[in-house]
Amino acid sequence: MDIKKLENWYLKHHRRLPFRESKDPYQIWVSEIMLQQTQVETVLPFFERFIKKYPDVYHLAHANPEVLQKDVEGLGYYRRFSNMHKAALEIEDHYQGQFPETYEKIIGLPGIGKYTVGAIMSIAYNQPVSALDGNVIRVLSRFLGNSQDMRLEKNKKVLDKINQDLIEHAAPSIYTQAMMELGALICRPKKPECERCPLNDQCYAYHHQMTEALPVLSPLKTKKETHYITLIIKNDHGIMLRKRDESLLHGMYEYPQFESESIQSVLSDLENEGIILELIDQSLKQITHVFTHQIWRMDVYRVRLISGKNPHWIVADEQTLNQLPMAIAHRKI
Ligand code: SF4
Repeated sequence: MDIKKLENWYLKHHRRLPFRESKDPYQIWVSEIMLQQTQVETVLPFFERFIKKYPDVYHLAHANPEVLQKDVEGLGYYRRFSNMHKAALEIEDHYQGQFPETYEKIIGLPGIGKYTVGAIMSIAYNQPVSALDGNVIRVLSRFLGNSQDMRLEKNKKVLDKINQDLIEHAAPSIYTQAMMELGALICRPKKPECERCPLNDQCYAYHHQMTEALPVLSPLKTKKETHYITLIIKNDHGIMLRKRDESLLHGMYEYPQFESESIQSVLSDLENEGIILELIDQSLKQITHVFTHQIWRMDVYRVRLISGKNPHWIVADEQTLNQLPMAIAHRKI
């Protein structure tokens, strides 16, 4: 691979993204965590607000966890931010608030995997450590003509090793960003712009008309679909909410909901637990929310709490409801 050509292309054509202009490991970390599973355009306004409010490890470590969840409401995958908070606390405790500088120390922090360490080590510290994300997998699979299934860890490891060899002969910070940017702008999943690509001279897929066929990614399992009866439960003080402890949407608030097809069976199950509800109206609406691996279909009902209580519910007035972190699936309601 002509690495020099790739790096020159990057220096000339890269987007001026705020987190690409910085060498601050804290900012690189924040951006890489936000960019996991989320598009750049979605991340940008969140990133800018986040860095303004939490400009360094100290501010993040001292954040109120619920306010922090609220600040990232809409980005999804909320466990990544509670891990980030835990990591900031560890950096405070073990490294006097200074972001650690070695691979071993960084990978020991909560929520940081091999890819994120690679990104921080190479982009912030200019160290030759491979950062293999989806963009880099696509570029390398096509460039090398590798037709192994890239959903499999063992095949990704082969590419990671190749990427490691390449970065050792490159300017690490520029190389990592160049590969990511090339994958995002030119070597896109559909209709890559090979004519404009700095790697086209030696690219296997380009010269063998295989760009659409690579990388090979075996189909994902079909999404699990769950039907919920979702209740807006009112009493004289407000509306009942439940804080999720499941790994999906961990720590976010939601209206109590029950895996069931029928409102009547939910009401009678709750009655058996001593909670009496009165139905205010028939199904308000059906709301569908699609996650990466599952789909929620929610039939929403308004009910009044006549008697009884559930220890996992809190009562929120309208103002509190707007301040608490809530998953978009339920904010829609
Ligand atoms: S030539 Fe085309 S397929 Fe090959 S790396 Fe460049 S954009 Fe991707």
